[in-house]
Amino acid sequence: MSKAGNNMEFTAEVNRLLQILTHSIYSNKEVFLRELISNASDACDKLRYISISQSDVTIDELKIKITVDSSKKTISISDNGIGMSREEMIENLGTIARSGTKTFIENMSKDDDATSQIGQFGIGFYSAFIVSKDVTVLSKKFDSEEVHLWSSDGTGTYNVQQIKDKNISGTEITIKLAKDAHDFADKQIVEDTIKKYSDNINFPIYLSESSSSDGEQINTAGAIWAKPKAEITEEQYHEHYNLLSRNFDQPLSTIHYKAEGRFEYDVLLYIPTTRPFDLFDQQRKAKLKLYVKKVLISDDTYIIPPYLRFISGVIDCADIPLTVSREILQENNVVLSIKKAIKNRIISTLNKLAKDDKDKFDIFWEAFGPVIKEGIYEDYEKKDDLLKLIRFKSSNTKDGYRSLEEYIGDMKPNQKSIYFITSEDYQSALANPLLEGYLAREVEIIILTDPIDSFWTATGIKFEDKELKHVSHGTEELTDIAVTKKAKKKKSKAKITDSDLKKLIAEMTRVLGDHVSEVKINPSLIDSPVCISIGENVYDKTMQKILQQRQGISISKPVLEVNPNHDVMIKLSDMFKNKQTKNINTTAHILLDYALIMDGEKPLNIEEFGKNMQDLIGKFN
Ligand code: ADP
Ligand code: MG
Repeated sequence: MSKAGNNMEFTAEVNRLLQILTHSIYSNKEVFLRELISNASDACDKLRYISISQSDVTIDELKIKITVDSSKKTISISDNGIGMSREEMIENLGTIARSGTKTFIENMSKDDDATSQIGQFGIGFYSAFIVSKDVTVLSKKFDSEEVHLWSSDGTGTYNVQQIKDKNISGTEITIKLAKDAHDFADKQIVEDTIKKYSDNINFPIYLSESSSSDGEQINTAGAIWAKPKAEITEEQYHEHYNLLSRNFDQPLSTIHYKAEGRFEYDVLLYIPTTRPFDLFDQQRKAKLKLYVKKVLISDDTYIIPPYLRFISGVIDCADIPLTVSREILQENNVVLSIKKAIKNRIISTLNKLAKDDKDKFDIFWEAFGPVIKEGIYEDYEKKDDLLKLIRFKSSNTKDGYRSLEEYIGDMKPNQKSIYFITSEDYQSALANPLLEGYLAREVEIIILTDPIDSFWTATGIKFEDKELKHVSHGTEELTDIAVTKKAKKKKSKAKITDSDLKKLIAEMTRVLGDHVSEVKINPSLIDSPVCISIGENVYDKTMQKILQQRQGISISKPVLEVNPNHDVMIKLSDMFKNKQTKNINTTAHILLDYALIMDGEKPLNIEEFGKNMQDLIGKFN
């Protein structure tokens, strides 16, 4: 802050954002109006809540006023809401508070297409700089006499100063429009834009060409959620959803009903079509507004569980006390009962969507599947319903999704469990030798490629009494199922006797020593000599790596499984009988490295791997 006391610098993210906004061609300029009107409406909501919860605060009729001046090329948006103090102006109009937005802007690629990325989310107040380099904000907090003027030309700094001879209530934002945005000084264009974007605002919006008169009201200012469904068009829902969610997509599905029973309330919820940019924000909060008879009392959305945070919407309930603090509100009986009912309703709507409209549900699953999976281990009560929603690719289908119900319906005779593998991608999962025994029996394998899959599958899942098992843990059960596909290679006629096999395993265990936790036989291997599996009661690789990173827990050593019928193993057994110690050593290490590679890992030690390969090649003649 300089000595003059008024010039201040924007934070780095704001600077970055302003640079993009003022230097690029923005195709969707009118969003600035939507953002500023939405802020004005928030300010009115806040003051209305205060006036109702604190008896000593009385207020005028709350409203939003927009004035255009076609000769000076200015537009101003004012409201008589809560207003801002000097500190609040600095805090709110010089930084970016929402962490999701912050990271998004920091990480935004520097390519030409930045504006299309930015268009994915509401950029709030700063969107004024899309249409101008010259923005001023005049504001007075409702409980103070001091009026402050904030101004900036969209470069690195802004200015805040107290204005002595001005009397306003609330906030007035004035924008001197840039040349390519002069349209927004035209009354008709502004009116059309407001009708398009802001008809759902709950306060009257007036538009005029003079600051001395209010002009005419141009929105309907009705609470859309309180209206009967039949009176609302798709378009109105769409706009309302955009307003609430800050996203520009269409709702995939709308849930609108009046709950009647012990408590009465209106519910209007939206399921989005595309992933909002802040879906993986640490806060994991839904965009839900809680009203009491059309007075907004909270947008702190603990009402929706974190794993359904993609939902946005409104709940309006007359039975919630207006004057309780947020902490007490969370414990309130009515709120608790609404919370439960809403959760059930969302999940049953999703289950219905999955049944009635597979294509739509697939779109939903693409966008929100990983988030729903969080619910499987976070919400024990709803686990079974959520498992019904799970969709996956499998060894039976690469394109299109399968459900657990479909899986169970197609199980082979004698198949005991549901089998899955976690992997980074579909192709490498299929190449894993662990799958051979399953594929030979045409047993379906669920292929899971989201990082979160390692979590929920580790919690002991059963679906319709069938256990969900990692392919490592199902090979013994496989022997009960008939083989339907012939092995690609012919089986060697030679066989290792049981006692030779025992000796060989003991020798491999000795040679590989510390590098494996166990060497054992896997009778269901077919074309591969060896593979890696995970031990009983051991987490899968992804989970182990996460636990290592977060808690320093060391990764357990791999289990090496061998195919007793494979030529390579028969040769190895012969070497052992002929006491070719060095050859056994080299081959055992190569086999372990081979198994690791097939499991998507690196060889134990690249240098030794190279040496061993050379050794081996040296033996060809
Ligand atoms: P958001 O609306 O998501 O909080 P914005 O960038 O739109 O983000 O606004 C930042 C903050 O500035 C708001 O949270 C609010 O505190 C303050 N603000 C913006 N416009 C107004 C206004 N018209 N009246 C009072 N406060 C406002
Ligand atoms: Mg805003």
